[in-house]
Amino acid sequence: MTAQLVLATRNVHKLDELAEILGAVGVDVELLPLPAEAPDVLEDGLTFADNALKKARSAAAHTGLLAVADDSGLCVDVLNGMPGIFSARWAGTGRDDAANLALVLDQVADVPDEHLGARFVCAAAVALPSGQERVVEGRVLGRLVRSPRGTGGFGYDPIFQPDGYDVTTAEMTPEAKHAISHRGEAFRALAPVLRELL
Ligand code: IMP
Repeated sequence: MTAQLVLATRNVHKLDELAEILGAVGVDVELLPLPAEAPDVLEDGLTFADNALKKARSAAAHTGLLAVADDSGLCVDVLNGMPGIFSARWAGTGRDDAANLALVLDQVADVPDEHLGARFVCAAAVALPSGQERVVEGRVLGRLVRSPRGTGGFGYDPIFQPDGYDVTTAEMTPEAKHAISHRGEAFRALAPVLRELL
């Protein structure tokens, strides 16, 4: 019988991405979305791993199934790794991606080009109703560009250029971005963990 796994996210794109990655490496699972009535989780951890684990634990407890959750963000070197876990609300609760990105650009406006290093980081956590849990992490290194470019992706993609590329992640196809992204790397690292736990 195919094992079931719930992905603790309200984002259908993440469900598709995880399904593609697990399918490609031959992990045979039925991926279920988080039930609509599942409780919202307060993301008040101090690390990506803490927040991912909190979401995975809550989903495992609610569904009685193995649950996977991720937490991610942009870490800027000269901002000591911020926005980091505050990436989704850097310009304030309720502000949008454009405001978050504009604030980061303002904050680095007088930083020399050679110091614009940044990375996207993603922690992916697995939790079982039994209490067993694991976390893996993925990252993609790159740098900020001074003005937004591209219409793909979301969040900070228009201002992030991965090392070795002269386009931002918002100018890449979804497939090209997933092949190198923090989330892609974290989800791929989950495959052996899931094989072991399922
Ligand atoms: P979450 O992990 O889905 O909650 O994402 C947290 C925030 O980090 C998002 O709202 C974005 O601002 C930022 N972020 C995470 N992953 C990406 C990405 O792949 N591209 C651009 N921004 C991202």
